[in-house]
Amino acid sequence: MESAGQSLSQELTQKYMMNFINRVPVTFVRGEGMYLWDDRGKQYLDFVGGWAVDSLGHCHPVLTRAICEQAATLIQVSNAYYTLPQARLAELLVNNSCLNKAFFANSGAEANEGAVKLARRWGALKRNGAYEVITAFNSFHGRTLAMIAATGQEKFQKPYQPLPSGFVNVEFNNIEAIKRATSEKTCAVMLEPVQGEGGVNLPSNDYLMQVRARCDESGILLILDEVQTGIGRLGKLFGYEVFGIKPDIITLAKGLASGVAIGAILANEKASVFMPGDHGSTFGGNPLACAAACAVTGYIIEKNLPENARVTGDYLKSRLLELKRQHNFIKDVRGCGLLIAMEFDRDMAEKVMYACLEKGLLVNLLKPSLLRFIPPLIISRHDVDEGIGILTDVLDKLHN
Ligand SMILES: *Cc1c(COP(=O)(O)O)cnc(C)c1O
Repeated sequence: MESAGQSLSQELTQKYMMNFINRVPVTFVRGEGMYLWDDRGKQYLDFVGGWAVDSLGHCHPVLTRAICEQAATLIQVSNAYYTLPQARLAELLVNNSCLNKAFFANSGAEANEGAVKLARRWGALKRNGAYEVITAFNSFHGRTLAMIAATGQEKFQKPYQPLPSGFVNVEFNNIEAIKRATSEKTCAVMLEPVQGEGGVNLPSNDYLMQVRARCDESGILLILDEVQTGIGRLGKLFGYEVFGIKPDIITLAKGLASGVAIGAILANEKASVFMPGDHGSTFGGNPLACAAACAVTGYIIEKNLPENARVTGDYLKSRLLELKRQHNFIKDVRGCGLLIAMEFDRDMAEKVMYACLEKGLLVNLLKPSLLRFIPPLIISRHDVDEGIGILTDVLDKLHN
């Protein structure tokens, strides 16, 4: 596609970048709210949001102002010193969660690595050196070596053997599998409340409650990877609230600063066992990223955007279910809040994604038979109607 009018960015990328992903041949140059514009001036409605990152949409004035003001004041000093934006962000996250202490990193994978290190420190100190972490098949915890060992998907693991040890992958949504995998070596269970990358897989209503109870019985920690589900995505500020449990540790990243790179670990008192020198980060917690996250997350809380994610997410899901009733090639529509998938009975998701692109709607191709809808939390009913209008046209033309 588009070989004739290939843009400079595409030419340079192909020449100078490693070929690590199959890109959609579009070059974006500007964003505002729910919309993006490419280098030809074409407008797109964005239901991808930078992979569930751009929680306030693009270039939200609250974020832009916070970045500009902080950039003109103080961008980075080492973590050997105190800075107020970092302390304020920790205060904001602790006061609005069931956790008590924060650590800041720069990405989801890095936050998860830190959470596993924290669990291992806890295991060393409180559970006779227990170090093993139980994770789920079809999970996604990031791309570092240890996190692909945690990620229970062969396609991520296989090219990188040998992987760091200390992870056991078990079936998701199966409490017996966790019971069987638990031993005196286990220090924690780590799960996504809803599996995002692995296919938008929802647990049954009581699964996480059972996991919580099991972790308490076994005396091990429960870590929730809320890198995708946290900060409003599932219709509550944190995904654990949707399932009525209190984890010992959570990790955050994607939506926390609406596009500025940041990751976070939050832990309760019991699990907050790091001592000086145990962990660290050069960039993690820098004033620029923390000021951005404070502005974004503060705004999300103040405007109750998690509630918008719930209500508008329900509306989007109902409109997608309507399409499912009209087209028998749509096998399933599932999700929670603004994390929704449409599954086809055949490998047609790429074709649908490109047809939507052509008509100015961005959707996320998650698998050959699966599209994911992860729009900004500021999405309105009107935006849903516009996107569904395009998707309806596309699916009608494919008929059966
Ligand atoms: C995206 C994601 C990660 C990895 O985050 P990066 O910032 O890409 O390292 C980890 N866990 C979950 C649940 C994610 O969705």
